[in-house]
Amino acid sequence: FNTDKFGQHILKNPLVAQGIVDKANLKPTDMVLEVGPGTGNLTVRILEKAKKTTVVEMDPRMAAELSKRVQGKPEQRKLEIMIGDFVKTDLPYFDVCISNTPYQISSPLVFKILSHRPLFRCAILMFQREFALRLLARPGSNLWCRLSANVQLYAKVDHIMKVSRNSFRPPPQVESSVVRITPLNPPPPIPFEEFDGLTRIVFTRRNKVVRACFFGAKGVLDMLEANYKVWCAEREVMVDDSVPFSQVVDAILRDTGCADNRAAKMDIDDLLKLLAAFHEKGIHFS
Ligand code: SAM
Repeated sequence: FNTDKFGQHILKNPLVAQGIVDKANLKPTDMVLEVGPGTGNLTVRILEKAKKTTVVEMDPRMAAELSKRVQGKPEQRKLEIMIGDFVKTDLPYFDVCISNTPYQISSPLVFKILSHRPLFRCAILMFQREFALRLLARPGSNLWCRLSANVQLYAKVDHIMKVSRNSFRPPPQVESSVVRITPLNPPPPIPFEEFDGLTRIVFTRRNKVVRACFFGAKGVLDMLEANYKVWCAEREVMVDDSVPFSQVVDAILRDTGCADNRAAKMDIDDLLKLLAAFHEKGIHFS
C-alpha cells in the first residue's frame, strides 16, 4: 500500500475530525466540497450536517471504501464521489470546502478554490504547520512571503487548531495545523496574474530593496517592456520611446516611494499601490 504516492495519512483522532467539521458551522442547506476524503472519517461527519457533499478522490480504492461506508444508509443520496485529480477537476458549486489533503497540493488547492466562482463562504483546511504559518504571516514577520500576500489579497486566514502527527495513521513527518480561509466578498478587482507577477519579482529576494529586484535580476525589465509593447499594440497605442524603458520603471519606483522598500516589510496596500502605478503607465506583469 503506497501511502506516499497519494500522501495518504488517515485522520484517526475522532476529536480532531469532529472539531474540523464543527468549525465549518455547516447549515442544513450547505453544499460541501471535500478534497481527498480517503476512507471518509471527515465525510461521514459532514454528511450528518450538510445538504449535499461532493468529494474528489484520486485513489479509486479509497473511493470504493468510502462508497461502501455509506452504502444503504440515508446519507448515500447526499454524497457524490468524483474520482480523479482535484487539480484537474471542474468544481461544482459549493458553500464550504473541508479538506485534509496531501500536502503536495496545498498551494494549488488554495488558489483553485479562491478563483472559483461563485465564491464559497469558508474553507476549513488542514496543512503542514509551516505552510499554515506562511498563510497566516503578517508583513514584517519572518514568514511573510509571496504566498502570504497572494492569499491575503483575496481572503482572511485564521488559525483554528494545531494537530499532532500522532493523530494520523501512518503519522506524517511533519506537524499540522487547521486554518479557516474566508474569501473577501466582493473580491478585490485585481487579476491574480498581475498581483502574482509583481510578488514573484519583489519576493524573490524579500530582504533586498525593490529597486534591486527590478534592476538586479536579469530579464525582469525585458519581460515588462515586452508586455508593455504587446499592451500598446493591442490597444493601437503608440509605444512611448522618448525615455528609455528602464527610466520609466525607475521613476515609478521612486514616485511611489517603493524603490528602497523591502518586500519583507511591504503590506498588501503597498503592493497594490505599486501595481496600480505600473498599470497607469500601461506596464503589466502577465
Ligand atoms: N481526508 C482523509 C482523512 O482525513 O482521513 C484522508 C486524508 S489523506 C492525507 C489524503 C487523501 O487525498 C488520500 O485519500 C489521497 O488518496 C487523496 N488525494 C491525494 N492526492 C489527491 C488529488 N490530487 N486529488 C484528489 N485526492 C487526492
